[in-house]
Amino acid sequence: MEASALFILRVLATTDFKNLTKIKGGNDLLPAAIASRLAGRIIYDARVVRIEQDATGVRAIVTQNGLQQSLRADAMICTIPFSILRSIEIHPHFTSLKHQAMEQLRYAPVVKVAFQTKSRYWQKQGLSGFAEMDHSAEIWNPSWDRPGERGILQFYQEGERALRLDRMGEDERLNFAASFVGRVFPGLQADPERSISYSWQHNEWARGAYSELRPGQMFAFSPALVSREGRIHFAGEHTSAEPGWMQGALASGFRAAKEVNEILAYTG
Ligand SMILES: Cc1cc2nc3c(=O)[nH]c(=O)nc-3n(C[C@H](O)[C@H](O)[C@H](O)COP(=O)(O)OP(=O)(O)OC[C@H]3O[C@@H](n4cnc5c(N)ncnc54)[C@H](O)[C@@H]3O)c2cc1C
Repeated sequence: MEASALFILRVLATTDFKNLTKIKGGNDLLPAAIASRLAGRIIYDARVVRIEQDATGVRAIVTQNGLQQSLRADAMICTIPFSILRSIEIHPHFTSLKHQAMEQLRYAPVVKVAFQTKSRYWQKQGLSGFAEMDHSAEIWNPSWDRPGERGILQFYQEGERALRLDRMGEDERLNFAASFVGRVFPGLQADPERSISYSWQHNEWARGAYSELRPGQMFAFSPALVSREGRIHFAGEHTSAEPGWMQGALASGFRAAKEVNEILAYTG
């Protein structure tokens, strides 16, 4: 798959790959902490199907349990990935460049396959359980700092091959991934009952993993990804200088919230 060289250079320049950090206890703790601060103000399982704005306000039309409701506000921060936003009705239409960016922004295809093993046999071979492979694939060992005998080896496939995995049935996908993992860490005897695959392309709330700009799009789309459309402000990893990272999504949220505060301060 073709990504913009400038886009890749920016990723390399803004990411300290030697000092990556993680949330102790699991990434879920972050949204859970945000949710507890916003208790009672979050509407779950509500799908935005239409966004409207006029001179007086902005509205999100949402469906929940088969019922439709309209939520009105002075301003909106839209964090829906463009892979989904492009299928939502928007009235009036976005300006031409925003519309083009929304339609054409590509999302990297990713499939993960996780194998549970009875033991962490690779450690006896002096191996870490992590590997970077050809064809945009990696192997991760998410059990490295977890207690217990059992282990997990996780195959992480991005790009064209992820799309190939998408076209396979679950058993074929597990076998395909096992053949790669077994080549790097010989002796893989995964329990098929405790092995699982996941495709972000099949997730109806995502339709892809994370945004990835094609050649020419850094120049053509960067301002349009971020710019507001009237009362609608945009946040999310795809609007940040660190796309594909939680950090980028968080920073974009601060930026959009600041934008809204400034605009509302002007307009009262
Ligand atoms: C395989 C994979 C590995 C990753 N690894 C890392 C990593 O190691 N470190 C790291 O920092 N980041 C990683 N990321 C990236 C990180 O997960 C994202 O950058 C971050 O979650 C983006 O946040 P966001 O709010 O922009 O989008 P999302 O988290 O995708 O949030 C968008 C929200 O919009 C909702 N939504 C979609 N459609 C609608 C609709 N119609 N109506 C209402 N709501 C809707 C979705 O349900 C979702 O909750 C990874 C991502 C993937 C896919």
